[in-house]
Amino acid sequence: MSEQVSRRAMVAGLLLLAFATPAGSPAPGSPLLPPELRDLWPEGMVVARGTRSVVVGHHAAPGSLDEMARRADTAGQRVAAVLGGPVRPLVVVPRTTREAAELAGVARLDGLAAVADGGRVIVVPEFFAMLNPTGKDVVLIHELAHVVAGTDRLPVWLYEGFADYVGYRDAGLPVKTAAAELAAEVRAGHVPSELPGPAAFAADGRDPVRLARAYQEAWLACRFLADRFGEETLVGLYRDARAIGVDQALASLGLSVATLTARWRDYVRDQLA
Ligand SMILES: [Zn+2]
Repeated sequence: MSEQVSRRAMVAGLLLLAFATPAGSPAPGSPLLPPELRDLWPEGMVVARGTRSVVVGHHAAPGSLDEMARRADTAGQRVAAVLGGPVRPLVVVPRTTREAAELAGVARLDGLAAVADGGRVIVVPEFFAMLNPTGKDVVLIHELAHVVAGTDRLPVWLYEGFADYVGYRDAGLPVKTAAAELAAEVRAGHVPSELPGPAAFAADGRDPVRLARAYQEAWLACRFLADRFGEETLVGLYRDARAIGVDQALASLGLSVATLTARWRDYVRDQLA
């Protein structure tokens, strides 16, 4: 699925070589650049490399992709810490939001800073630029988690929540900060009654606060599972759910969607009230 849209390591500067690449030819010494990306744009393609990552930009200023390559390396390390590695991130940086949507094969990317598409992360340049440094890292890690873990056959709350679990795991943000919109709801006496479904994740620009809450609700479902059963169990549940379905995977933990929902609601209230 082309995720409805699919979000650092100190690296020696010498390793981060950015250079313009003539149309249609691979960057010199860049064996990691997949063939399908060598002809991504007929002109204006720029490639930057991190220690494990490759970033492909369109009409990017020389050097401007180096920061992205550092972030992509960090994202790869964070995802590998949860899912195993090594992870070799491939990040595409189009010139505009419209170009990003075309690449992702979707009509709109409102409010999305990046999307996972196949084996790559596509950055949505205008929205990504609006994030602070922590937000940029969280978004890249989130999307890379989708790329590495996959999303097929899973309910949206599980794959979005899992991606945010990996994204926020080492971000150092208090839960009430990272889940500010949901915390406001809870303080107002409204605890969500069910895990967020596909409609809640519609990135159509109509209700950005509801969209933010949907991600936060899903994140806390996965955070609850990791807090209660351990991170390895969360990762195992995710993999099992892809193989045998979420109901059977939850059953192995003595849970159903209904009992998980009840315990998640208590956790949300406890964490955010
Ligand atoms: Zn996502």
